[in-house]
Amino acid sequence: MAHIVGVGIATLDIINSVADYPAEDAEIRALSQRICRGGNATNTLVVLSQLGHHCQWAGVLSDEPDGQRILDDLKQYQVDATLCRVIEGGKVATSYITLNQKNGSRTIIHHRDLPEFNFDDFTQIDLSSCGWLHFEGRNVSETEKMLAHVVANSPDLPCSLEIEKVRPGIKVLFKYVGTLLFSKNYVLEHEDSDGIEGAINFLQALHRKFPDKQIICAWGGDGAYGIDHYGVIYHAPPSPPFKVIDTLAAGDTFNAAVIDRLISGHSTEDAIKSGCRLAGQKCGHVGLGFISQL
Ligand code: ADP
Repeated sequence: MAHIVGVGIATLDIINSVADYPAEDAEIRALSQRICRGGNATNTLVVLSQLGHHCQWAGVLSDEPDGQRILDDLKQYQVDATLCRVIEGGKVATSYITLNQKNGSRTIIHHRDLPEFNFDDFTQIDLSSCGWLHFEGRNVSETEKMLAHVVANSPDLPCSLEIEKVRPGIKVLFKYVGTLLFSKNYVLEHEDSDGIEGAINFLQALHRKFPDKQIICAWGGDGAYGIDHYGVIYHAPPSPPFKVIDTLAAGDTFNAAVIDRLISGHSTEDAIKSGCRLAGQKCGHVGLGFISQL
C-alpha cells in the first residue's frame, strides 16, 4: 500500500434531499438534511484510505468549529491533515447541495472565502516517502509551480490531476502529470456529442498532444473511457447498484479506485473498470463510508 498526498480542498457539505428537483422560484420542503465533509481531493483520499493507503491531505482550513468538523471526519477515516495550513478566523468552504431522490442527481452551489494552498505551503512537504501525488485542477498559477517543482525534484513520483471544471489557463497543467482524470462536464465543454464519439474525439485529440499520458474520463451513468500510452481506447461499462440513491462524490470515488489500481501497476483498462465498479457501489449508498459494508 502506498503513501498518497492529495492537494486540494475540503468543504462543509449541506445536503438537502428532495423528492424531485424544484422549479425556479418554488418553495419546497426537504425530505431530509445531512451535513458532512466534502471536497474533491479529500473525498478521493477518504476512499483511498479505506482501500488501505496511507493518505495525507494538503489544503487550507479555518480554525472555526466547521473546520474542526472537517478534521473529525478525516480523522475517522485516518486521513492525516497535518500538512494543512490553518487560518485564524474565516469560514470553511461550503457547498449547498440539492440531492434529487428521483434520479440521484446532485446540484451544487459552492461558497468559498479561504485562501488557496500555495506553492510556499507545498514546498514544506517532505515527499521522500510519497508514492503518488494527486492534485485538484484549481488555483492554476500556484498549482503549476507545485507541479513544476515535483517534475524538477521528484521526477519519478507519479502524479494525477483531476480536471472537473473549465478554468482559465487550466490546460497548462496537463503536461506535468502522468495521469489526467477528466469529468464528463469538462469534456462536454469541448465536444458536441455526449455519446461515445464525444469521449473518443476528446481522448484521441489529447493523446496526439500528450502521447505519454494515461487520459481518463468518467462518463456518469454510461461508465468511463480511457486511452493508454499506445493510443488504445477503452470503455468500462457502468456498474449500477440496485437503486441509485446518491451520486454525490461518485467521480471522486471513481478517481480513487483508478489511482488505487494504477499505483499497483494495473493497466488503464483495469483501472477504469475498477473505478466504475467502486463508483457504482458508491451510488447505492449515502456518503463515502460504504466500503466496509461491501
Ligand atoms: P461526478 O461525481 O464528477 O459527477 P460522474 O457522474 O461522471 O462523476 O460519475 C463518476 C462515475 O460514477 C462514473 O464513471 C460511473 O462509473 C459512476 N456512476 C455515476 N452515475 C452512475 C449511475 N447512475 N449508475 C452507475 N454508475 C454511475
